[in-house]
Order: sequence, then structure tokens, then C-alpha cells
Amino acid sequence: MVPFSDSNNILILRTPTWLRLIIFISELSVILFGWNNLLHLANNPNASVVFIVLFFIINPFLHEKCHAFVYNELTGNKATISFANCRFNKPCTVAQFRLTLLSPLFIVALYGIVLGVLIWLQCPLILVQLTALGVIVALFGICGDFYWLFLLRKIKPSYLVIDEGVSARVYKDIS
Ligand SMILES: [Zn+2]
Repeated sequence: MVPFSDSNNILILRTPTWLRLIIFISELSVILFGWNNLLHLANNPNASVVFIVLFFIINPFLHEKCHAFVYNELTGNKATISFANCRFNKPCTVAQFRLTLLSPLFIVALYGIVLGVLIWLQCPLILVQLTALGVIVALFGICGDFYWLFLLRKIKPSYLVIDEGVSARVYKDIS
């Protein structure tokens, strides 16, 4: 039997449009709320630049970098990062794939630690608020990954996954 044939493909992972929409609307609401009510960014051009760069460029990039790093550490293969997704160039097992899906939790933890330190050092409120929003935005960022983990809950760890970025195919392990 051919390992990656259609007859061996048991599942295709995709984030449905309704979930993408919920994540996008929630993220946008939190960002707009932060912009208007917490940070007063309209009157603070420098903080606005930090806010936009952090949430729209650095956050998505670090998220994908986490996936790529863990995939690379576990399999020795390279991943390709493009904006808002990460493509694995060679198959990995479902067990390895689960760890790559969990990896962006590191970003949430990192924001959490920075937040704790900022509060502890009694830093300016705007920095504390910005980092707290970072925690929330990073949490929204992992919703799609957790949805895929949920879909994989009954799949054998030894089965194989080919991640094409926006979708991933799961194949039976025939060896
Ligand atoms: Zn992800």
C-alpha cells in the first residue's frame, strides 16, 4: 500500500470559517477595547506603533516560530513560515504533531511572566495593560491549534501528519 494515498487518509484538519470568524471578532473586540478604553492610544502615537507591531507582526510571527522550532527539534526537518501559517515539509507522527500544536502556549506563558514582572516592579500602567492584552491576544491565537488537538483526540499517536499550513492530512501508519 502507498503510505500517503487517499485510501490511507483518515482525516483532514481544517479550521472552519465559523471558528475563524469567532476568533477574529473576539480578537478585534479586545484590541479595539484596549485601544479605546485602556491604553488611550489615539493620543499616544509611540505606544500605538508598539501596539500595532506587537499584536499584528511580532505575535503571529512568534506563534508560527514556536510551531516551526518544536517541529524542527522533534523531527530534524525544517518548516516553512509564511504570514499566519507554518508548513511542515515532511510528515511527522501525530504524537509529534500534538506537541507542535501546543508549542505557542510558550508565548502565553512568556507574556504572563513579563506581566508578573511589570506588576512586581510597579511599571507604568500602560505597559501592564499592553502586556495583559498580549496574554489575551496570544490565547486567541491558539484557539485554532486547540481545535485541531480536539479533532485529533482519538487518533493513534503513531499515525502520520502532513501539515500544509492552512490544512493538514492524517494518514494511517502502515509500517
Ligand atoms: Zn498555531
